[in-house]
Amino acid sequence: MELLFDICHVSKYYSAKSGAFSLDHRVVKAVDDISFQIYKGETIGIVGESGCGKTTLGKLILHLFEPTTGEVLFQGQDILKLKGKGLRKFRKHAQIVYQDPYTSLNPRMKIGDIIGEPLKIQKLGNKDEIKEKAYEMLKVVGLAKDFYTKYPFECSGGQRQRVGIARALILKPELIVCDEAVSALDVSTQSQIINLLQDIQKEFGVTYLFISHGLSVVRHVCNRVIVMYLGQVVEMADCEELYKNPLHPYSQALFSAIPIPDPEADINRIMLEGDVPNPVNAPKGCAFHTRCKYAVEKCREIRPELCDAGDGHKVSCHLHI
Ligand code: SF4
Repeated sequence: MELLFDICHVSKYYSAKSGAFSLDHRVVKAVDDISFQIYKGETIGIVGESGCGKTTLGKLILHLFEPTTGEVLFQGQDILKLKGKGLRKFRKHAQIVYQDPYTSLNPRMKIGDIIGEPLKIQKLGNKDEIKEKAYEMLKVVGLAKDFYTKYPFECSGGQRQRVGIARALILKPELIVCDEAVSALDVSTQSQIINLLQDIQKEFGVTYLFISHGLSVVRHVCNRVIVMYLGQVVEMADCEELYKNPLHPYSQALFSAIPIPDPEADINRIMLEGDVPNPVNAPKGCAFHTRCKYAVEKCREIRPELCDAGDGHKVSCHLHI
C-alpha cells in the first residue's frame, strides 16, 4: 500500500498554569509520543474515552495545532514546519469534517458559498467555476440544487453534515479527518452519512482518519484501528483482528462494552474500576496501571513500549513484551 502520512513521535503538551503568575510547572500531555502510518485509501479509526487525545491527534496531523515535538511527513515533507503559503497549499491535501453540524457552518453564509469557500481561499477558479464545482459537490453528497441558496438554519442535522462533507471534498483531498462526524446525528441519519462517506471513498479514493467513540460504527467502516488512553497509543491492529482479539487490558474492557443484538449471547462485560486519572497527574509507568487488574510493580515504574505482537498487531503492555 502507498504511504500517505508518516506520523513520527508527535506530542502535544499544555501547561497546567492557571495564570501568568502561577508557579505550577506541571504539564498536561494531551498527545504523548505517538507514531504510526496512514496508507492511501484506508480508513483508520481512532477510539478511546473522551479526553484521551483523539481529536488533538487528528488536528495535529492537519497542523491545526502546533506540536510540542515530532514530525508529520507528507510527500517527504514535514508539514508541521509549514507556515503561511506552504501551509495553505497543504490544506488542499487534507481536510476535516467536524462533529457538530450545527456550529461548524457559518450561519450567515449561503450553503453554496460555504461549499465553494475552500476553492476561493486557494484561488482555484473564478466565480462561475467555483459555483459550478459547488453544484457538483451538492450532487455528490445527495443534496438538491436549490440547497445552493439556502442558509444552514434551513437544513436538518444530516443535511448540514452533508454540506460539511461537500466543503471538505471540494478540494479533492487525499485525507479527510472525520472528527466524531456522525456522533451528533440520530441513528438513521448516521447510517446514511456513513454510506455516503463509503461511496465517496470508492469514487474518489479518499483516505479517512475516523475519530469516534462509537465502536460499532468504527468496526463497520474502518480497516485499521488505534486505541488511545491518556494521550498514548495502547494498541493498534487490523479492525477485525482487534475486535476479535484485543490484547491490551484497556482494549479488552472497551470492546467488551459493545452491545450485542442477541438476547441469547454470552455477555462477558469487563467493568473498569476507578476513573480515568487526571491528565495533570498522569500516572508514572504504564498510564493504565491505576485501573488494571494485572498491574505488577514493573507497571508502576516503566512505561511499556508499543511492541509488535505479530502480523502488525501492536500493543503497549508488559504482559505482551
Ligand atoms: Fe496492565 Fe501492566 Fe499491561 Fe499496563 S503494562 S496494561 S498495568 S499489565
